[in-house]
Amino acid sequence: MNIKNYINAEFVNPIDEKYLDNYNPSIGKVYGQIPNSSKEDVETAYRAAAKAFPKWSATSLEERSKILSKIAYLILGKLDVLAEAESKDNGKPISLAKSVDIPRAASNFQFFANAITQFSSEAHESVGFNAVNFTLRQPIGVVGCISPWNLPLYLFTWKIAPAMAAGNCVVAKPSEITPMTAFLLGEICNEAGLPKGVLNIVHGLGTTTGQAIVAHPNIKAISFTGGTKTGAHIASIAAPMFKKLSLELGGKNPNIIFADCDYEKMLATTVRSSFSNQGQICLCGSRILIEEKIYDQFKKDFIKKVKQLNVDHPSKSNSDIGALVSKEHLEKIESYIEIAENEGGKIVCGGLEVTIPGFENGYYFQPTIIEVTDNSCRVNQEEIFGPVVTIMSFKTDEEALILANDTKYGLSSTIWTNNLNRTMQFSKQLQTGIVWVNTWMLRDLRTPFGGIKDSGVGREGGFEALRFFTEPKNVCIKFPS
Ligand code: NAD
Repeated sequence: MNIKNYINAEFVNPIDEKYLDNYNPSIGKVYGQIPNSSKEDVETAYRAAAKAFPKWSATSLEERSKILSKIAYLILGKLDVLAEAESKDNGKPISLAKSVDIPRAASNFQFFANAITQFSSEAHESVGFNAVNFTLRQPIGVVGCISPWNLPLYLFTWKIAPAMAAGNCVVAKPSEITPMTAFLLGEICNEAGLPKGVLNIVHGLGTTTGQAIVAHPNIKAISFTGGTKTGAHIASIAAPMFKKLSLELGGKNPNIIFADCDYEKMLATTVRSSFSNQGQICLCGSRILIEEKIYDQFKKDFIKKVKQLNVDHPSKSNSDIGALVSKEHLEKIESYIEIAENEGGKIVCGGLEVTIPGFENGYYFQPTIIEVTDNSCRVNQEEIFGPVVTIMSFKTDEEALILANDTKYGLSSTIWTNNLNRTMQFSKQLQTGIVWVNTWMLRDLRTPFGGIKDSGVGREGGFEALRFFTEPKNVCIKFPS
């Protein structure tokens, strides 16, 4: 199936008719073409957005909210079609797309449809000066949203929904590796009555289409989720142009397990936090740190459970682990297995490519556990972003904290313990934007989401996202005494 850009509510080919192949990773074959949009396509999208902005930004909150709710409703109505499309494009099990990705895309719209009606700003009375200050929260204008391939519609909508709710018009680019559900969203937006030009979706490579969005002089804010290296590059272009920037980047998240935890719950969740979505979630706990006194027991039980995970074609209802997103990504994962072995890491589970009968050209890999003893090894410091975790023991709380923080990343962390003091100490001292205690990926959309250190700048989620997508303006009114 060939997809098109969505500009001014119409489906259009790229101006210079350049296209990229779109792969189905579960069979390793091209199944369609996508535009590789140029600077001119981005300009056309920008103009449509700029034209729509005066009316959309003046549209009542109730009306904006109604349209976004309708989009949420229509997404859920197309749950099966969207889940199948997501799975085909990305390789993730259909069951996961159906239970997580697509429902969450709908929730993103519904959440911000509600949130915008509750969003407010502050007033400050300047006592003694006969003056009152209030803050206007105004939409920025045309904003750019760029998203990655791991949770395609989920993360695309996480950005565009608050941007539009706040009254902005959007030029958005999904990952060129997984563009399909963003394409299908265009039709849904038209059906929901979203005015033309409010959302414009341009497809293409990061280095051409994405770059054109970031460098566009009149796109005044960029919300980006993707790799740390790309984020640094985007910042180098956007910062001198004084653009507002929200960067949600990579992670190397510690999962810290203490002997006093609820063991069975921890074990089941750790399997999930390690390998959900083939380990391709920025929040996956890829560095598992285990208190020494339960290390051997954990290692044995964890390996046993991970060996039970079924690597299979994503359409199979019993597939726990589908295909990796691309051949390049599979090769990257394989290269890290070699790196681990060269560094003295011990592969205690998995480590090999999987051939699925009937789907021999798909990109499948065993869930893999590497035992390491030195936190400075590359597999503990670099983001692998696949079905690969490391295990390592620690003796004391102090050591666990040092190991957990000893990385350039700071996205999320998980602690398993029933000790309240320890919970508080770690919550305060872990250098991550998110700390989960006795759970993982339990998301409340009102909470601030984002990382510190090389995991990003800024927060999305809840009112934080609405703050990002608005410009605060102070108005000071003096009144006679
Ligand atoms: P990526 O950085 O390669 O690409 C992300 C998006 O940016 C894509 O749409 C791509 O086309 C675009 N892009 C690439 N180069 C660009 C450029 N020069 N200018 C503008 N846009 C450009 O990342 P990816 O491989 O798609 O995604 C995986 C990464 O995303 C991992 O590092 C993962 O941790 C991270 N991620 C982070 C979060 C988070 O919330 N912190 C969530 C999901 C994924």
